[in-house]
Amino acid sequence: MAGKCPFCGHQHMAAKQVEYLYRLSDRFMMVTGVPCLECEFCGEQYFEAAVLKRIEADFHAIQNTGKKPLKTIQVPVEAYANL
Ligand SMILES: [Zn+2]
Repeated sequence: MAGKCPFCGHQHMAAKQVEYLYRLSDRFMMVTGVPCLECEFCGEQYFEAAVLKRIEADFHAIQNTGKKPLKTIQVPVEAYANL
């Protein structure tokens, strides 16, 4: 795809669909199949503002207006010092 990596300056950015983890304080939402550009050298991922706005809007719809997500998963939490 077009453009070079703003992070490392590498010339090749690949169009991909990835998992995006949205977080607001202690609440998370995982979104699959999110379009982004990924640097083929350093792996930095860049998302369009419109894509992130759409994810944020959906997060608020689920939190505030009771929209049902596709599914809900449980995530174990550990402190590294206790491993
Ligand atoms: Zn890069």
